[in-house]
Amino acid sequence: MMNRPIYLDNHATTKVDPQVLKAMMPYFTEYFGNPSSNAHIYGWEAEAAVKQARSIIAQTINADETEIIFTSGATEANNLAIKGIAEAYFTKGKHIITVQTEHKAVIEPCQYLQTLGFEVTFLPVEKNGLLDLNLLTKTIRDDTILVSVMTANNEIGVIQDITQIGAICRENEVIFHTDSAQAIGKISLDVQKMNIDLMSLTAHKIHGIKGIGALYIRRKNPRVKLASQIQGGGQERGFRSGTLCTPQIVGFAEAIKIALLELDLENKRQKELRNYLWQKLSQLDGIYLNGDLNQRLSGNLNISIDGVDGSALLLALQSVMAVSSGSACSSNSTKPSHVLKALGHSDKLAKASLRFGIGRFNTQEEIEKVAQFTVKTINNLRKLRSI
Ligand SMILES: *Cc1c(COP(=O)(O)O)cnc(C)c1O
Repeated sequence: MMNRPIYLDNHATTKVDPQVLKAMMPYFTEYFGNPSSNAHIYGWEAEAAVKQARSIIAQTINADETEIIFTSGATEANNLAIKGIAEAYFTKGKHIITVQTEHKAVIEPCQYLQTLGFEVTFLPVEKNGLLDLNLLTKTIRDDTILVSVMTANNEIGVIQDITQIGAICRENEVIFHTDSAQAIGKISLDVQKMNIDLMSLTAHKIHGIKGIGALYIRRKNPRVKLASQIQGGGQERGFRSGTLCTPQIVGFAEAIKIALLELDLENKRQKELRNYLWQKLSQLDGIYLNGDLNQRLSGNLNISIDGVDGSALLLALQSVMAVSSGSACSSNSTKPSHVLKALGHSDKLAKASLRFGIGRFNTQEEIEKVAQFTVKTINNLRKLRSI
């Protein structure tokens, strides 16, 4: 077999866990019914499977199962949350607050709303990637209808203080949405304790499959109104029409179940691997850590490197490791990452960055090899430049 590079791009997507695939299989060919068919056993079987999956996902974030709406992923969940709130509350106000380092699936819907006459404040972050909570409090106005702040960042891995942000929003009676695509199954989340009103989730960042996610929508204390963005058969309490994909939903719940079982152990293991990698790389001069070292996902390391060309570095590394610079959606473009720019980096330094995303299937041996080869490659590239 050809030697394929070591996969370290687990923030872009992850390998499907064989156990997830196994849980899904019967729902393709045997229990294939439409969960909305209520006249026969094929429908009932599928409905029961969906109900059980919904309940597992709800319990994970301390929600009620009626508050989980399945979507095609976090992109759709973010769109539904942001546009759905704007449409339902525009008579109350037209001001939305979000952050410069959000995923494009939050930034773009907000920019779209700007073209419809909404006013959006994109808050800057501090040098460590964290939001200044005083700044957030000061920015909330009487006509602010929504605050959207991601739980964990997909590029630099920083985890925002969601509990505090939720408390600020609740105190000011503003709806709080958080994109938890990178956080679910990696840190514990509680929509009650954290005062979260809307939460976007996805399966494929935690070894589930691509194309399935969910939006949590609070039903009481307070009840959140939302305008649906896809009309049709009225599935998902009318919030999101379309026949439910039973296998994907079953797999999503299985992925979450496994992630929770392994959460403590994996966090400890991945943190050790991450810290080992950082310790090796930081022995070089001119290496900067992007994002707070402590308040970040265990498997994330993001660095900027002085004195090398970003694309030359990626090219030199690609036979040994699959890493990215910036996020998957922007790594094809020549534009530097908007997240790294928000940390105050120049275009050049932002482009000379590497994101290592360690996942459940990475081994110590792999990380040792990656550390060694990355150090060697940076040294070589720097030597070439000084000749
Ligand atoms: C991956 C990701 C998304 C997009 O999720 P999809 O399920 O691929 O649509 C949104 N937000 C964050 C933070 C992500 O990491």
